[in-house]
Amino acid sequence: MTTSPTDPGTPTPEVPEELRNNVAITPLAKLLDPIYNWSRRNSLWPLGFGLACCAIEMICAASSRYDFARFGMEVFRATPRQADVMIISGTVTKKMVPTIVRLYNQMAEPRYVISMGACASGGGPFKEGYSVVDGIDKFLPVDVYIPGCPPTPQALLNGMIAMQEKIDNQSIASAPWYRKGDPTAEVVPVPVLGPDLVDVRQLDVIKEEAAKVEAEVETAVNA
Ligand code: SF4
Repeated sequence: MTTSPTDPGTPTPEVPEELRNNVAITPLAKLLDPIYNWSRRNSLWPLGFGLACCAIEMICAASSRYDFARFGMEVFRATPRQADVMIISGTVTKKMVPTIVRLYNQMAEPRYVISMGACASGGGPFKEGYSVVDGIDKFLPVDVYIPGCPPTPQALLNGMIAMQEKIDNQSIASAPWYRKGDPTAEVVPVPVLGPDLVDVRQLDVIKEEAAKVEAEVETAVNA
């Protein structure tokens, strides 16, 4: 064993003289990453569902004029178990969130979420509406946001390409979904729809705030 000229602390294997011009030594992950990422980035299969007007643009992106099949993204799947991209295309209502989260939980790892349009990213024109969630990222981890109301099919295509570029930079050695304690592999608790939408991860905060209000009311009554 000798040590690496670029990193003196790292031992490198001895290569016989006659093989020196024919052998390239590289970490396994560096060799696998391009192959692994290439296969995943060119077979992004979105889950086939739409939420509102943005979905029409999403459908256009799959049609012959824009044809995102050119990038290997066209196979809309009818089941979350065969899809790896969830495109949130439209207004997310409180009534719909539990279903969206349930579908996300049923997708296999690695899975990605694209937030398409103003509604999905922040509530859009309905932000103040009693029935609308102001951003799907309150519930799911979003990888790419696409601005616009609605974003054009070209914008969606651009967002999908951004998704591919993100995948290109991932490494099999550090991809979270093969690690113990991977936060992205956790099942997202399905929110509860009651008089309002309750995110069960926020139960402690909700209880604290409710106790504060209760104490304030009690003080006001006793005053
Ligand atoms: S962002 Fe605009 S086009 Fe898209 S769902 Fe909302 S209102 Fe419709």
